[in-house]
Amino acid sequence: MNCTEFLANLADYFDAKTAATLRSELAQHMDGCNHCHVTVNTTRQTIEIYRNNELYELPDSIRTQLHQAVLTKCAELKDNKKKTKA
Ligand SMILES: [Zn+2]
Repeated sequence: MNCTEFLANLADYFDAKTAATLRSELAQHMDGCNHCHVTVNTTRQTIEIYRNNELYELPDSIRTQLHQAVLTKCAELKDNKKKTKA
């Protein structure tokens, strides 16, 4: 699983109905990927805030923002690796 796949399934990670296999795949990626780990923590906090306001659904705008933030970070990481090698 890569970061894009992880983010595509991010909402499922917080869904109690999600299959255990998918959940463990998500957990596995999160263990090895600091950006997605941070994203999950941020999303969890966001969900808790919304849950307190009795709004469980994660707004699309926040999902898009998180998605963009992680993709940007991952692109930066790739660039840095290229620079180190060259
Ligand atoms: Zn990732």
